[in-house]
Amino acid sequence: MPIRLHESLTRQPKELKTAQPDGVFRFYNCGPTVYAPAHIGNFRTFVINDVIRRLLELEFGADKVKHVRNLTDVDDKTIKRAQEVGRPLAEVTKQWTDKFHADCDALNCLRPHVEPTATGHIKEQVDMIDVLMKKGNAYRAADGSVYFKVSSFDDYGKLSRVKERELQVGSALKAAAADADEKEDISDFALWKAHKPDDGANAWDSPWGRGRPGWHIECSAMSKKHLGETIDLHSGGVDLLFPHHENEIAQSQCCNDTLFAHHWYHSEHLLVDGKKMSKSLGNLYTLDDLVAKGFSPMALRLALLKGHPRKQLNFTLDSLHSSEADLNTLRKFRERLVINAGTEVSAEINNSFIDVIAALHDDLNTPAALGALFSEINLHARVLPAQAARLLVKFDQMMFALGLKLNAPAAPKAAVPAAIIALADKRWAAKQAKDFAGADALRKELAAAGWSMLDGKDGYKLEPVKK
Ligand code: AMP
Ligand code: ZN
Repeated sequence: MPIRLHESLTRQPKELKTAQPDGVFRFYNCGPTVYAPAHIGNFRTFVINDVIRRLLELEFGADKVKHVRNLTDVDDKTIKRAQEVGRPLAEVTKQWTDKFHADCDALNCLRPHVEPTATGHIKEQVDMIDVLMKKGNAYRAADGSVYFKVSSFDDYGKLSRVKERELQVGSALKAAAADADEKEDISDFALWKAHKPDDGANAWDSPWGRGRPGWHIECSAMSKKHLGETIDLHSGGVDLLFPHHENEIAQSQCCNDTLFAHHWYHSEHLLVDGKKMSKSLGNLYTLDDLVAKGFSPMALRLALLKGHPRKQLNFTLDSLHSSEADLNTLRKFRERLVINAGTEVSAEINNSFIDVIAALHDDLNTPAALGALFSEINLHARVLPAQAARLLVKFDQMMFALGLKLNAPAAPKAAVPAAIIALADKRWAAKQAKDFAGADALRKELAAAGWSMLDGKDGYKLEPVKK
């Protein structure tokens, strides 16, 4: 059964298939910016993409899917964070990468086959910018920054229909332009950013002077390196459609003279209590926040799948309560299948759970898939022993597709809680500022919370206090 998925360029559902001679499906998904813990909105996007990865594996075979997801480990936010806490950029981004991995594992997201970092691909980005300069798609400004000349690419705006809604996005363009008064045109965007004092030590050499890559070029360069010039599917949250993905298309297609992606997919955002998540509103949740309230990561995964990925989903704590109960129903059903599965298999149940897969293949309709799953469970309220073994195989396949791990532990594996890291960062900053009394008070606060902080030359390590 083919997988049909909404395609952002045509705004129509389109079959997912590979155009590559080796039959390997190439899937690129924009990854996190590693400067703080990812919030549950970010995880909505990553869980949705994880279901896509799983469906691709079921459809094409696990060895016929290549999934690449980057880590943005240098940009304005990561640099600002490192400067604030007075630690090297690489150390701060590693800390948040580790946390991201621990959270993804707890949410049972499959690791991508390749997880490239922006700082690990400076050469590839410089090479691509070099080609764009030589072809006349880019220019160097007086300060040493390099910009992409949007007017040089006729197809610019096709994905986001930016020309049609120029009025609405005018302010977005102005905001994007705010950091760069050297541009020839307001819509041009940075490929290379000349070093500024605020960047500290975070700069690399290039033919245009010291600096760092712009954000957009990293995905163009890393997808080219790891998946080739044309990929089968490129995805991300809806906020990335413009300008990030529009800019990726412009860079890649001008550089490589070929189609960048056959299929674009964007999932919608998570709201909390009907509002955009923000620290100031106090409605921003991390996985740790929910685990601290006693919920399991798997309940969050299930709750995130209850809304259609292309519609905004309003998250509430109540939705977690009902997801915990639903997980119990699934667990009990599976236990019953296991008890009965020892009996010789005789009955064929060809069509069981077929509606679940059909819904997932129909534009990733996860709420319909879950509805079909629970209807089918009700239907099999009295499982016949002869059917149990076969049903168990099918049921486990559904759990794989949805990524629901029924024996998952309640809490993520030994990771330092985000609140402790925040406290430790504060103490480190106080020490750097020679506020020793403040630093001592924070050390005591950390000890009271069960953590000791070991200071090194360039940074610190946290260890649980031995009891
Ligand atoms: P970032 O770490 O900011 O680069 O974002 C990582 C991913 O999370 C991107 O694909 C974003 O589109 C997505 N994202 C950001 N905020 C939300 C949200 N509230 N709901 C769903 N996805 C989000
Ligand atoms: Zn990207």
